[in-house]
Amino acid sequence: MFNGKPIKNEPHFRTRPDFIPKYHKYSSGAFNLFASKSMLQKMIAHAVKGNRCEIIGTLIGRPFYDTKGYYSILTNSALAPFADGTYGTVTTTFKDEQFFKWVQEAYHPTEDILGWYHSHPMNLEGYSSVDRGNQSKWIEPYQIGLLVVCNYMQNKFTVMAYRGPESELLLPSYSVYKGGPEIEQMTEAA
Ligand SMILES: [Zn+2]
Repeated sequence: MFNGKPIKNEPHFRTRPDFIPKYHKYSSGAFNLFASKSMLQKMIAHAVKGNRCEIIGTLIGRPFYDTKGYYSILTNSALAPFADGTYGTVTTTFKDEQFFKWVQEAYHPTEDILGWYHSHPMNLEGYSSVDRGNQSKWIEPYQIGLLVVCNYMQNKFTVMAYRGPESELLLPSYSVYKGGPEIEQMTEAA
């Protein structure tokens, strides 16, 4: 679960780009999410490092709107350093919330905390009902939840995206294949 108090962002008007070269584009209807690929790969690396324990963190970015409606751009993420992660659950602590606020203010002063992410180390695809309950606290339609699904059988790591309190699924998911310990690099899945 995530105890963070969402910061309310005021989206600015700005016509959305068709694509951003170093970003993965998720969509549902008129909504788009542009997520930095280096951020997604960092989240996957943290999920792998967490081994069989779930990890959790915060997402940093900005919401915008144009004539089609809202869209969001996520530029970075911060892992909760004090979270209580187990095989099937993960909870942030008050110290994590303070840390997130500090990271946002210190490193990303023009951006906001725009959502949360966590991992499913046991290849459980998609949000659980508990995850949906946590996501429902992010009440704005441009607030995002990301889920890192670790498939160690195939060495395939997927970041699924949800938005708003209804946990609307955004597609396509972002996937990479990770080489063995000797090949510490990721290959984007087709
Ligand atoms: Zn979950």
